[in-house]
Amino acid sequence: MKSVSLHDVRKSYGGVDAVKGISFEVAKGEFMGILGPSGCGKSSTLRMIAGLEDITSGELRFDGVVVNELSPKDRGIGMGFENYALYQPLTVRENIAFPLEARGMPRAEMAPRVQKMAKLMEVEDVLDRKPYELSGGQQQRVSLARALVRDPSVLLLDEPLSHMDRHARVRLRARIRHIHDAIGATSIYVTHDQEEAVALCDRVAVMNFGDLQQIGSVEELWHRPRNRFVAGFLGQPAMNFIPSVTVDRHRLRFEVEGQPTIEVRQALPEPGRRVTFGIRPEHVRIGGEDASIPGRVVLVEMEGDVDVITIDVGGIELKTRTGTHWAMASGDQVRLAFPVESRHVFDGEDDAAPALA
Ligand code: ADP
Ligand code: MG
Repeated sequence: MKSVSLHDVRKSYGGVDAVKGISFEVAKGEFMGILGPSGCGKSSTLRMIAGLEDITSGELRFDGVVVNELSPKDRGIGMGFENYALYQPLTVRENIAFPLEARGMPRAEMAPRVQKMAKLMEVEDVLDRKPYELSGGQQQRVSLARALVRDPSVLLLDEPLSHMDRHARVRLRARIRHIHDAIGATSIYVTHDQEEAVALCDRVAVMNFGDLQQIGSVEELWHRPRNRFVAGFLGQPAMNFIPSVTVDRHRLRFEVEGQPTIEVRQALPEPGRRVTFGIRPEHVRIGGEDASIPGRVVLVEMEGDVDVITIDVGGIELKTRTGTHWAMASGDQVRLAFPVESRHVFDGEDDAAPALA
C-alpha cells in the first residue's frame, strides 16, 4: 500500500495546458475517483501518475518519495485503460499472466491466479483466444484482469468499463472495489460517469478545463459544492440554475418576469449584484401551502420509479423529480416551493462562480 501525491503537477502538449498545475493526495488504501467531462485532463493526469506521460512541471510522490523519473515498470502499479493495448500475439491467458511472469512467478502458482481473475472478469471462456478475436468489452475485461492479477500496490484505471453494457458495468465495478479492498491497494479511477464515481469511490476529485475544481466525499460534493460547475456536474438531472439579482442581505430576485423575491440563508453581497440561484430537481416541490412560484408544465418524462417534470417558470425551464403519482400533463399550471434549506446561491453567473455559505 502506498500513498500517491501530486504537487502542482502540470502537463502541456506543445503550447496547450491539458493539466494546469493540480495538487492532491490519495491516502494509503483509498479509492479515489477523478471525475469530469471529456477533455478536462483526467487521462493526462492518470498517465502522468502511471509514468506513461512526462510531467511538464511539479512533483509526483509515492509514499513521499519523488517518482517523476521512475519508469512505469518500477512504480509497482496495475493499469487498466480504456484502450489499453493488449499484447496482440499473445493469448488472453498469456496476456493476463504477463505481469506475473515478468516478476518471475513459478508457473504452478501463476495458473490458478490467472484462472481466478479471468473468472472474476468473466473472460474464462476466451482464455485461449487472441485479442483480435474479442469484442471491445471483452478486451477491456482482459485489460482489467491483467491490471488486477498482480496485487498492485497502486491501481490506476481509466474508464475501464466504457465498452461494456450497463449490467456488466455494474457487476464488474463492484468486483473492482472488492479486489481493491481485498488486496489493500491505493486506487485512482478515472471516469466521466458520476454514477460510477458515486458507486465506487471514497473521495472524488472533480476536474474541468485542466483544473481541479473540488475534492471530497460524494456527500461533501453534493451538499457543499464549491462552485457552480461542481454543483451542476453532480446530480441527474442537474441542479436548476436561475439568474438572479441580490435585493438585500438575505433576499434575491429571479431575473424572470413577474417573480417575487425569495429569501435565502446565505449572506449575500451588496444589493444589485448578479448571482445564480440553484435548486436540485429533487428539492423542487409542486404544490402545497407555501408554493408561491407560478409555472407551467412543459414535459413529463418517466424515469424508473420517478417522473422528471420540466416546468417553465417565466421563460426558464426547471426540472423536478417526483413520485409518479402526480398525474401531471403538459400545459398544467402549477405552483412551486423551494425549501429554504435546499437553496444554493453562487456569486456570479459562470462555472467558476463560488458557492455562498
Ligand atoms: P480527458 O481524459 O479528461 O478526456 P485528456 O487528458 O485526454 O482528457 O485530454 C486533455 C486535453 O489535452 C484535451 O484538450 C486533449 O485534446 C489534449 N491532449 C491529450 N493528449 C494529447 C496529446 N498526446 N497531444 C496533444 N494534446 C493532447
Ligand atoms: Mg480520457
